[in-house]
Amino acid sequence: MQFDPNELVNEAIQQLQPYVPGKPEETLRRELGLEKIIKLASNETPLRLSDAVWERSAAALRDIMRYPDGSGFDLKRKLADRLGVTPDMITLGNGSNDVLLILAQAFAGPGREVLFSQYAFAVYPIAAATVGATAVVVPARDYAHDLMAIQEAITPHTRLIYLANPNNPTGTGFSDDDFLHFMEMAPLHCLVVLDEAYFEFAGHQSGIGLLTRFPNLVVTRTFSKAFGMAGLRLGYSVSSPQVAEILNRVRQPFNVNSVALATALAVLDDPNYVRDVVELNALGLKQLQAGLKTLDLACLPTEANFVTFHAGPKAGAIYDALLREGVIVRPLAGYDMPEYLRVSVGLDSENERFLSVLGDILKSQA
Ligand SMILES: *Cc1c(COP(=O)(O)O)cnc(C)c1O
Repeated sequence: MQFDPNELVNEAIQQLQPYVPGKPEETLRRELGLEKIIKLASNETPLRLSDAVWERSAAALRDIMRYPDGSGFDLKRKLADRLGVTPDMITLGNGSNDVLLILAQAFAGPGREVLFSQYAFAVYPIAAATVGATAVVVPARDYAHDLMAIQEAITPHTRLIYLANPNNPTGTGFSDDDFLHFMEMAPLHCLVVLDEAYFEFAGHQSGIGLLTRFPNLVVTRTFSKAFGMAGLRLGYSVSSPQVAEILNRVRQPFNVNSVALATALAVLDDPNYVRDVVELNALGLKQLQAGLKTLDLACLPTEANFVTFHAGPKAGAIYDALLREGVIVRPLAGYDMPEYLRVSVGLDSENERFLSVLGDILKSQA
């Protein structure tokens, strides 16, 4: 008998497609031997953390022969103070991705439905599939979440609803009023997970303020975007203490590393970093939107740190041509948006280079 792991793999994993990340700079360097590469593919911030923050990361590095504080005591206390909640409402994760998966492990599973919008973040279907739950994809409206349709798709089997505000990969958001109305209608047999990965850029009210009213709400946040720590992996959820206690049973004992914990504490102490990131982003968004308009390319409305634009039937060829010039953006065919590309806001000079290379490519195609 031949050994065939595909015959043995559990049913839930059989149909699972791996997450496809933005192409790393090093990969493109290896493939094309390019010197100058600009990565605008993964919604990271282009600004480095300050020296004062690095010093605290470096101090934590000295002690990496020790396990981290598995309870994340100091960071939870600091976050709780900032957010106006108690530490027992916070669950830390190895990126918010980790928390999104822990939620599925704890509350979804075979025979249970997980709802999310068409064109929503790719981790939601992966989380649902990983635990053998039934993923229910609710059609979007103009590429944005249709909260009414999601409400109507709830059944007695629904246990988890993932909503992203703003959403990735579209950048679209929903209003605070619409979300409040959604929560008022959401039955208590489903957890509503509000993914606020891009909260700092958007200017919405946080769902955290609604937690006392809606015990079935869970808000997730990340240090990967506005807090400049994508490479260290740190995210968290804020929920009722009862939900947090359940998540704590599922999470791995040391799911957040000690350098991430120390760095996050340091970034929270930095009075300027997040403000600078948000300011730079507002300018960069205007620059990208104006430039794309000049090139006659329609953008989806965005509230985040990226712009998704209609590149047309040649989107794939345009993506490849950008790569050959050392500019990495994100193709969205995997999101069933084959004619769209997503570009993250970079430094002024990087946005400029992207626009000028894109302009040249479009001219040469015409
Ligand atoms: C980037 C992103 C996250 C955060 O992922 P991390 O695991 O925290 O790096 C979560 N949700 C959405 C919608 C995102 O785009």
